[in-house]
Amino acid sequence: MFICQHCNAQASFKEKSFLLTSKTREKLYPSRVSANKYRQANKIKKTDDPGGIGTEIVEAKQVCKLCYQTLTQLE
Ligand SMILES: [Zn+2]
Repeated sequence: MFICQHCNAQASFKEKSFLLTSKTREKLYPSRVSANKYRQANKIKKTDDPGGIGTEIVEAKQVCKLCYQTLTQLE
């Protein structure tokens, strides 16, 4: 049982909840020197992680099935 964070209604017993990401932001990952280690010919070798741009979840809501279907169709 849970309370839907969109319509504030209490869900019935054994009803599944859905996680809806409501806010995301861009995240810049910096490059890291010798971050990845791997073994080749019995020697440990290291490669650099180039970094880059990705998305990060800021806020996720626990919603009921009806709210999830209506909110995903709006996008
Ligand atoms: Zn709801």
